Amino acid sequence: MGKYKKYRAIFFDWDGTAVRSRKAPVGEAVEKMKPLLRQGVKLVIVSGTTIENIAGGKIEEYFTEQELDNLYLGLGRGAYNYAFQEGKACIFYDMLPDIECLEKIHRICFEIHVDLKKQYGFDTDIVFSRPNYCKIDLMPNSFRGENLFLQENELEILKESLCRHEIVGGLNGLIELAVNTGREFGMEVKPTCDAKYLEVGISSKSDNVDVIFQKIRKETGIRAEECAFWGDEFVGIEEGIFGSDSFMVTELTRDGDFFDVSEVPGKRPDGVIKVGGSVERFLMFLQEQYL
Ligand SMILES: [Mg+2]
Repeated sequence: MGKYKKYRAIFFDWDGTAVRSRKAPVGEAVEKMKPLLRQGVKLVIVSGTTIENIAGGKIEEYFTEQELDNLYLGLGRGAYNYAFQEGKACIFYDMLPDIECLEKIHRICFEIHVDLKKQYGFDTDIVFSRPNYCKIDLMPNSFRGENLFLQENELEILKESLCRHEIVGGLNGLIELAVNTGREFGMEVKPTCDAKYLEVGISSKSDNVDVIFQKIRKETGIRAEECAFWGDEFVGIEEGIFGSDSFMVTELTRDGDFFDVSEVPGKRPDGVIKVGGSVERFLMFLQEQYL
């Protein structure tokens, strides 16, 4: 195709963009990444998950020390930023809440859960075990199985469910509830929503891309225009609410090029190009970037 310009840095989501699922083999992604890393292209994996869930926690074993010099990981929705030193993953900047702060996030989420139950009879489950945020499961009876990314019919199912429970503000209402509940506890939370989960924490993928982009900029003088950003969850779930990958669009990165491999219909943030084609399309792009 050859329709893409050559980029000096490529930021990309992992699950659903570079690999089909968390347990899927990583061989193909690795094979496409290696030549680019050797060529000096900066590759940045930006994922909501933690390092144990990227290539079974063994990402460094797939690359040489020299290749790893150009690889970065922005993980845990803003919490962890890794570069590699002598072939080992090192956190160079973290945004982990301290124990009091984390406790407050737990209380805020429990409050949201109780509110939704009391006011609307709306059931939720909460995943408390993340180091820096909680996941409020808005569809406790629907399972994603191994495929942790947004499923095509989930939006419809959730919207229907919110309607049935007369939650008039819809997802915007939920985000607002999270922000307001946070304020009651004296905290500015950054809630995100991908249909199944309302996630509440103090950082997001925006913090990952900003921190890593600034590090690379400092070291190489790179500009946002020289960066590409790929994901599978940009789609707007509702007016003004976009998917988790839309958080890669920030003040600092907005001049970059943004691509969505998902086919899900709906609004994307301004400037995000829907290329579709799922994981295969992204891997083909990587291959085409190799000179
Ligand atoms: Mg994804």
